[in-house]
Amino acid sequence: MRHARILDTERLSALRATNLLDAAVPLPSFDRLTGLAARLLGTPVAMVTLIDADRQQFASACGLPAALDEKRESPLTYSICRYVVEDDAPLIVPDTSRDERLRENPAVTVLGAAAYAGFPLRTPDGRVLGSFCVVDSKVREWTAEELGTIADLAGAAESEIALRLSYGEHVLAAARMQAVLDTAHDAYVSIDADSAVVAWNGAAERLFGWSAAEAIGRTIGELIIPEHLREAHLAGMARVRTTLRSRLSGSRLQLSAVDRAGREFPVEMSLQVCFERDVPYFHAFLHDISDRIDALIELERQRRELDDDHTFLHSLLDSLDTGVAACDSDGNLTFFNRALREAHGQDATQGESGETWAQQYDLYAPDGVTPLRADEIPLARAHAGQVVRGQQLVVRPAVGEQRRFVSNARAIDSPDGRRLGAVVTMHDITEAHRHEELRRARHAVAQVLSEATNADQAAISALRVITDRLGLACGEYWQVSEDRTRIERLSSHVTGGLDLSRFTGDEPLAFAFGEGVAGLVWKLGGEIWTGEPPATDGRGQAAVDCGLRTAIGLPVRAGRRVIAVLAFYSAEDLPHDPDISAMLDTVAAHLGRFVERRRAEDLTLDLAEVRREQVEQLRELDRMKEELSAVVIHELRNPLGVIRGYTEMLLENPRLDDLGRRHASTVERTIGHLQRLVDDLLDLARLDAGHLSIQPLPMPLGSLVHDVVDNHRPGAYAKRLTITERLDTHLPVLGDAQRLRQALDNLMSNAIKYTPESGTITVLAEEAGDRVVIEISDTGIGIPPEQYPHLFSRFFRASNAAQKGIKGTGLGLAVTKAIVEAHNGTLVARPAGPAGGTTFTISLPTGGDPQTSAGSAGAGSSADDCSTERSDQSATGTPSATRIAATTSENW
Ligand code: ADP
Repeated sequence: MRHARILDTERLSALRATNLLDAAVPLPSFDRLTGLAARLLGTPVAMVTLIDADRQQFASACGLPAALDEKRESPLTYSICRYVVEDDAPLIVPDTSRDERLRENPAVTVLGAAAYAGFPLRTPDGRVLGSFCVVDSKVREWTAEELGTIADLAGAAESEIALRLSYGEHVLAAARMQAVLDTAHDAYVSIDADSAVVAWNGAAERLFGWSAAEAIGRTIGELIIPEHLREAHLAGMARVRTTLRSRLSGSRLQLSAVDRAGREFPVEMSLQVCFERDVPYFHAFLHDISDRIDALIELERQRRELDDDHTFLHSLLDSLDTGVAACDSDGNLTFFNRALREAHGQDATQGESGETWAQQYDLYAPDGVTPLRADEIPLARAHAGQVVRGQQLVVRPAVGEQRRFVSNARAIDSPDGRRLGAVVTMHDITEAHRHEELRRARHAVAQVLSEATNADQAAISALRVITDRLGLACGEYWQVSEDRTRIERLSSHVTGGLDLSRFTGDEPLAFAFGEGVAGLVWKLGGEIWTGEPPATDGRGQAAVDCGLRTAIGLPVRAGRRVIAVLAFYSAEDLPHDPDISAMLDTVAAHLGRFVERRRAEDLTLDLAEVRREQVEQLRELDRMKEELSAVVIHELRNPLGVIRGYTEMLLENPRLDDLGRRHASTVERTIGHLQRLVDDLLDLARLDAGHLSIQPLPMPLGSLVHDVVDNHRPGAYAKRLTITERLDTHLPVLGDAQRLRQALDNLMSNAIKYTPESGTITVLAEEAGDRVVIEISDTGIGIPPEQYPHLFSRFFRASNAAQKGIKGTGLGLAVTKAIVEAHNGTLVARPAGPAGGTTFTISLPTGGDPQTSAGSAGAGSSADDCSTERSDQSATGTPSATRIAATTSENW
């Protein structure tokens, strides 16, 4: 079995590194040593043996049999040297035949090796490779001197081995280096101090287009340095040569190179300058960085594009009126646009996280008082993954106006789900909110005003609503006193957390005209809005002490008079706000109208009461009048009837002398007038009372008209008037003969009365369709056209009649019309013609059978029995006691 040391792989690999195994060429240095050994020691054989795994090689052998010498090796079984290696120690054998291990060795038995002295040959690091030995063919005692000589020669052989090993290492390293350089992606170029190329690897060939054979020996300048850089290159080389120092050594440079085809391109070069005995050598690795430069240029272009986009985006966001803020993936604030910078009065502090935002940027809840918690801030919520919609918040910067926003916010995530940051938009709703608040306040005020039952309550409720709604600290309602000498506080309403007791006080309060806010508003008759308490205000200092900063006062007017004042106080420095001002003005006006309306309503109620009482009184008067006229008429009518009866009897007395007769006639005429007046009044009274009744019977109206006309002929004759008559005889109507006679009498007597002497009266009666028409026309004084509408009113008398002194009562036509209308007929008047005069037309419906009833309704005794005195007078003028009895029997 072979010894472990012989098979030791490290030993074997060191052996190979010597390059001595199978060396094709002779090794003279060993040969000299073995030759010397043989000579000095007088041995036939001296050798340098190398022990391989399975054989023994002769690196040098002196005195070997020719066959072995040629073969230069032998199997290990022939080897004695192997024991030197196995033992790693010298082997000194004076007589091999007596050595247990060697006795049977073919070297002894076949080749005749009788004595042996071998020393180990070791590498510098102590690995034994073989032996330096001498062999004698005779048994021999080796002296110490001889052994010392062999040891020295073995040492010399070891030095040779060390050299061989070191060279082998060097060659190996160089080969390795060359392999690395040949396979390197980077071009490797070495030049000497004169710029001549000394190394040029495959990558250099590929990069520059020159083969190594072409490149080596030529100057680098003509190979790869662009012409415009060559001068600088040469200057640099000269400097290195002179100074023996290189500033660029060890650095990495970017420069231009040119290839065989003349293409100039950027390269990156790692330069190493080595000085070998003060001669510089330059080693450079180069690679084409066109792609990298292109990529860099592209990157730069993209960066610039990004910058432009960024600038564009910022300008765009800055141009918005909507506030925009953003934070990055870590939740750090990165951006405020212009609108937000203005709202906050500051820019975003970059890198700040949500914890400090509320404080830093004055963020409050919608009530404007409670600071927002960090987890309520929309941007922080969005960064935490929530989608924020329509969250209201208030920004209340230390300097500048408080603003109200509604915000929307959301996270910004990459398509692959990474959180890139979050963005919030803030819409300024300050104005809209204020208008809404004002609208609500107005609405609330309108509501309380509509519900209020009296002016004081309305004012107090309105005051309360306005103070609360507008967030004011205090509101007061002042009323000008009845005697208008002072203005008194009627109500005071305090809100919020301020202690205003020193300002409001408990006592009733009053100011003179022009004194205090209320008095001043009363005096000015207009609004005041001030941050300074009026000089005349006794409470001014108290207001300041209580923290009130703004006073607002408005007059409440009824008509043009100031009747009250609304006063409000705010704990803030409120600049004059035209909207609030307009709103308060509206409320004050509303209140004023309310008070006015209430007063008007009260007045109307009072008036209604007065009127009711008046109506009551008038009714009472009417009733009394009716009673009075009834009594008077009743009481007059009977005595008149009696007087008339007796006057008639007196006139019938033949013994009455002429004077007595004249007097009695005058009495009788006067009594006639009075009786007509009383009769007319009686008829009208009946008319009013609804008692003017008729008893219609079929009758021939023509006969009645004829009869009436005949009765008036004496009167007409007295005035030399001509009466023309054109009558249809029958003209059947359903009528009350007595009442119709009364009506026709009135019209005929008027015609005679109002027609001057020698005039004409024309009477027509005819049937027209289903009507009977009677026309009485005269050529008299007529009626002024504008007075026709009043003609049938009671007591109406036309102006011309009065002027001419024609006597009358103005009752006849009213009674006549009432009678005609009681027969479903009409009575109209019109001018008779261009020459003057008047035409009265009665139209009645036809009806009845005049043939059968003519006797009862005619102008005969029955009509006469019931006729009034007036018709009697127009007839024959013959009085009778029966007639008096008939008239006096009337029951009222
Ligand atoms: P009286 O004749 O007693 O005054 P009436 O009621 O009969 O009262 O008539 C009212 C007024 O109408 C008269 O006063 C007169 O002015 C006017 N009147 C009536 N009939 C005529 C007439 N035929 N011609 C002119 N005026 C007339």
